[in-house]
Amino acid sequence: MKVDIDRIRKYNVSGPRYTSYPTAVQFREQFSSTSLENYLLSRNEKARDISLYFHIPFCFSLCWYCGCTKIITRDQDRADVYLDYLKSNMDQLLPILNNASEVTQIHFGGGTPTFLDPGQIHDLGESIKSRFKIGAGSENSIEIDPRRLTRDHVRALRQAGFNRASIGVQDTNKTVQEAVHRIQPQKTNRKVTGWLREEGFSSINIDLIYGLPRQTPELFEKTLEDVLELDPDRIATYSYAHVPWIKPSQKLIREQELPSTDDKLRMMKMAVERLIDEGYRYIGMDHFAKEDDELSKAYEEDTLQRNFQGYSTRARTDLYAFGMSGISQVGSLYFQNYKDLPRYYGELDKSHWPVQKTRWLSGDDRIRREIIMQIMCKNFVSYDSFEERWEVSFHSYFKDEMEQLRRFAEDGLLAWYDNGFELTDEGRFFVRNIAMVFDRYLSQAKREKTFSKTV
Ligand code: SF4
Repeated sequence: MKVDIDRIRKYNVSGPRYTSYPTAVQFREQFSSTSLENYLLSRNEKARDISLYFHIPFCFSLCWYCGCTKIITRDQDRADVYLDYLKSNMDQLLPILNNASEVTQIHFGGGTPTFLDPGQIHDLGESIKSRFKIGAGSENSIEIDPRRLTRDHVRALRQAGFNRASIGVQDTNKTVQEAVHRIQPQKTNRKVTGWLREEGFSSINIDLIYGLPRQTPELFEKTLEDVLELDPDRIATYSYAHVPWIKPSQKLIREQELPSTDDKLRMMKMAVERLIDEGYRYIGMDHFAKEDDELSKAYEEDTLQRNFQGYSTRARTDLYAFGMSGISQVGSLYFQNYKDLPRYYGELDKSHWPVQKTRWLSGDDRIRREIIMQIMCKNFVSYDSFEERWEVSFHSYFKDEMEQLRRFAEDGLLAWYDNGFELTDEGRFFVRNIAMVFDRYLSQAKREKTFSKTV
């Protein structure tokens, strides 16, 4: 597989990552607990598969590139208080949830979920198990920061039911690590992946970032070597977006040390070509997985889904999020918890939903969400299926969009069929650009300010 740098340059504009549609920028500070409860009750008249997300915001130290919602602290006791509030947050939902609904997926994100010590992990794990019906094959994943992880953490995670781990590595070169304030020797990565395998984790993902300060294509090649040595089941290679006006901690990064756009594109090209050569399948956006990994199988079996955690293997589940800033996705509703801790705690103290923002989807939003998610996850859109489901002609509903798709077809990124269109192998690298055609909220100016580059 060869990647054409000129083509990447041409399509390298700012755009959403479509972990939701409409994107979180469209959420509004409008909230009625009655409407929320009525909707959730109607949604729970029948049992459904559900996913649970827990946001653990604490981190021991600040990585300067970070754009996550986090709180830097070394006070472990803060996590005890937070866990109590997570339990109240779960208890709010229980009377509404259908008793027969099964949890098929749990994810701990952050911040740093492994900020929790082994006892706190055990406590949270038990409080989830005692409240929800966890399905036998549930995929339970956690984001891991190896720098302070102990073997006891890994054992506690397994006992709590975790079977998948995602390790933040970013870059293995010391000079780059110094430039972003995150020192993490390769021997630590080696030790932690070893523990995870020995304790029975069935899938290990490694996150990398290209475009960090002091990175060069040569240094990034060394990072790829180091990561391949760890033999992960999945690898995600994210492009660093330097947007200090949105992510203030990035102001600490020396802009003059950032690589040129050309070097950044070379790193991206190198990563794609090398990982595919090494037998990883390109899943979409920045994600690669081994052929026998669940993510690859989900891609094959058309059950791949995109949600706030990125690509996910379980399609059509309702997602309930707990913790500050967590976003739930239930049917035609998105709702997001307060992003600041005092307000999140304050609402729970008053027995209120700690919800700050909501987004109810219109009919048009639902139609466009379905098309955008099909492009992102299946790379294929069928007019017949669309027309059968929505009882409207695809060509008349998306007349302007069809016109805009022409340039992608002319560049060989998209192929037309009588019954639909499909992204070509090369087109799959530009999946965001093609999805953006169907996004009715995008305007050039807003896009430049709000979103990262598409490639
Ligand atoms: S990158 Fe991860 S560990 Fe570093 S500050 Fe952000 S959330 Fe915390």
